[in-house]
Amino acid sequence: MTKDEIVRKKQEYIFNCVTNYFRDDPLVIDHAKGQYVWDLDGKQYLDFLGGIVTISVGHANEKVTAKIKEQTDRVQHTSTLFLTEAIVALAEKVAQIAPGKLQKSYFSNSGTEANEVAIITARMYTGNYEILALRHGYSGHSHLAKSLTGLATYRRAGVIPSGVVHAAGPYCYRCPYALTYPTCDLRCARDIEEVVKTSTSGQIAGLIAETIQGLGGFIVPPPGYFKIVAHIVRNYGGLFIADEVQTGWGRTGKNWWGIEHWEVEPDIITSAKGMANGVPIGLTLTRPEIADTYRGLTISTFGGNPVACVAAKATIDLIEEDRLMDNAHEVGDHFRQGLQALQEKHALIGDVRGMGLMQGIELVSDRQTKEPAVEATKRVIERARRNGLLVGRGGLNGNVIRMSPPLNISKADVDQALAALDRSLAEAASAS
Ligand code: PMP
Repeated sequence: MTKDEIVRKKQEYIFNCVTNYFRDDPLVIDHAKGQYVWDLDGKQYLDFLGGIVTISVGHANEKVTAKIKEQTDRVQHTSTLFLTEAIVALAEKVAQIAPGKLQKSYFSNSGTEANEVAIITARMYTGNYEILALRHGYSGHSHLAKSLTGLATYRRAGVIPSGVVHAAGPYCYRCPYALTYPTCDLRCARDIEEVVKTSTSGQIAGLIAETIQGLGGFIVPPPGYFKIVAHIVRNYGGLFIADEVQTGWGRTGKNWWGIEHWEVEPDIITSAKGMANGVPIGLTLTRPEIADTYRGLTISTFGGNPVACVAAKATIDLIEEDRLMDNAHEVGDHFRQGLQALQEKHALIGDVRGMGLMQGIELVSDRQTKEPAVEATKRVIERARRNGLLVGRGGLNGNVIRMSPPLNISKADVDQALAALDRSLAEAASAS
């Protein structure tokens, strides 16, 4: 098909709500390898979005695709009614790298499902119903996941009353209490207790939080935040659920999991995205005594699919063998320094934040008022595309540029991305 045909058929046959970047001229990807993707015209792009924080070990990674091909030829699908070596091998590997006593896995197909399973499990284990979630958080596209989400654009359809109460998020750049860390004494964390006491029955099933808020704009909580939050949640009978859909598998550098940076052991971890380098998979991981309270029958036809499981195990093995969490730390630091240098040069950049190879810049039209530079952000992303760089967008106002390249990129790739970003920021500012 030609590009025009593909774009036309998208409009004709696919829901409008499934949006593409660059509406007037969508990018049609033809193929990809390593840190690069190519469009139909053969133009090459450096992929600093990675399929939305999903391409952990590079596109078409030989070691991962070899396992996928081998498993596809052997047996592609069984359902969980029959056992395979693939599902238990993955579950065992996940248990080995999981924090503390987290040991049992429930595999599904997406982050949305992983979070659904986590909430159901927390409700069954605690016998409580109400769930706390955070403003600016994102949990997925189902009814329940939308009601957990704290971003209006994703809540317009499908939100039903689900016993979810939102607390303020740890957004230091725009502190909900107009305070500054550390003199704030972590008011956002301490206020969770007030929320429980005023807006719930006083006994909760749990709190779900991303360890770095992804779609919300790579919002990194301040040190000490999660310790206080987990303590409060447990005091009121709940479980602390860490959504590691974006932050798992070495993404944040040094560790396997984002939450390990805050020295808190969650009761449940959910993940997806980078776990299988692009093959659909969801994970809900918890302690045996919590997992085993899930009553009644349940089934996910594709959950634990052998092809998805071998892809995940191969991805995790590769991250471990090549210590890609260390690369994410080292190259991520280099990236961070480069972004900070760009901040000195470009007035548009109000904030630089992130961890490891999950780095974002929040664009503002005025550093004093912090007015979100929404149109300029769109322009930067468009210019970046022209300059051969793909990046993502996020934040409540869509004024955060999100970057999450594969974990095995080099400093030279980062330098190339920084140069393209530098040029794109200058072009976007002069086009205003
Ligand atoms: N949680 C977080 C933190 C996410 O970023 C996402 C996806 N953007 C989800 C859950 C939902 O995952 P999925 O799109 O795989 O359903």
